[in-house]
Amino acid sequence: MRLTRIGAIILLLLLQADAWSGQVQNLRVWAGPDSTRAVLDLDGRVDYRLFTLDNPSRVVVDISNVDPATAFSFNPEHSGVISGVRHGVRNGSDLRVVFDLDAKARPQSFLLEPAGDHGHRLVIDLYPENAASPGERVKQVVRSAASNGERDMIVAIDAGHGGEDPGAVGPGGTFEKEITLALARELTERINNAPGMRAVMIRTGDYYIPLAERYNRARQARADLFLSIHADAFRDFRVRGSSVYVLSRSGASSEAARLLAKSENKADLVGGVKLDRGDDVLSSVLLDLSQSAALEYSNSAAESILDQLGSVGRRHRNRVERANFVVLRSPDVPSVLIEVGFISNPQDEQKLNTAGHRRQVALAITDGVERHFRQTAPQGTWFANNRNPSRHVVQRGDSLGKIAQKYQVSVSRLRQANNLNGDVIHPGAELVIPTGS
Ligand SMILES: [Zn+2]
Repeated sequence: MRLTRIGAIILLLLLQADAWSGQVQNLRVWAGPDSTRAVLDLDGRVDYRLFTLDNPSRVVVDISNVDPATAFSFNPEHSGVISGVRHGVRNGSDLRVVFDLDAKARPQSFLLEPAGDHGHRLVIDLYPENAASPGERVKQVVRSAASNGERDMIVAIDAGHGGEDPGAVGPGGTFEKEITLALARELTERINNAPGMRAVMIRTGDYYIPLAERYNRARQARADLFLSIHADAFRDFRVRGSSVYVLSRSGASSEAARLLAKSENKADLVGGVKLDRGDDVLSSVLLDLSQSAALEYSNSAAESILDQLGSVGRRHRNRVERANFVVLRSPDVPSVLIEVGFISNPQDEQKLNTAGHRRQVALAITDGVERHFRQTAPQGTWFANNRNPSRHVVQRGDSLGKIAQKYQVSVSRLRQANNLNGDVIHPGAELVIPTGS
């Protein structure tokens, strides 16, 4: 009798231990401008249920058969719409996690299989209600860009990786996602300071955007050019220098290009999207045609950028390479992927960590883009009216001071070069811009 009771207790304990099949190992949160992502790291596959509650707004997640003794911490800084996280046991063997929210949000959740350095994960994306969609925000940029009569050329700048996907890691511990964001910010500033161009950043903080969504945002912004910035690793740490890629649908131009595309395209597995989504659409003949037109422009831009990058340091290759990068598959926006260096190389890593070097790289890219636009920009753009950098067609609203500032020459030199006595200039007149200051 006594023995049976002990046996029953042991059996119960065994059942209990077996019932807790999983464990939550960690909670990570990233806040983007459009959504907040919470990731629960798990040691195996789980069943879960998710629902929302109002007043105050909460998202509740019940995970079955998870060790309730689980402990994880929450950092309220940079946590977006999440103001707090609590957890406790439910029904003996379930874990209940409650996310307290600052505002009402629509949740979207999914489980991820192990990929890269990550194991099983439960991802919860929270989209605040009443927030402007990314499409609306980029449209606002487009409107302001078109307001001065001559349209600005729009450059979409994509900082590679982000959030859950750190990209490559340098020998000194630098994350590629940090370098790409810092460089994208610098490049945005350079481009916005140059006449006739406007930059739109695809990601503005430390969060992940699926690859296809990146070029979709560029299309929504009606970008004339899409630049994806990377600083990947190579298995040989001695390999260094910058390289420039365009899309190839038939094959990679080098072994390095093939390997790089393979590892880049895996980013979606880390960030939570199945690869090759919508691929059948892209294979249609019509899209092929518009894509090959876009490819011609991509090539011209890539060559011009590669040329300029030669002035800031070593280039890994002296010609534009081709590889099948998902992020470059936009059907109608010319797209270029720029490796600003190899983070696996200690010298490149160190340089990319220096603001001065990043500025030089950004300037070189801007110069390359500018040269490309001077040759290819369509009618109605500032570039179309200023193809020859030494001439300027006077626009309504122009003043000598404005033009002088645009080309960084003094008003007196501008007057001198054009035999002007006063400040009167007429729309349509062509002014000679003196070169050199
Ligand atoms: Zn990368």
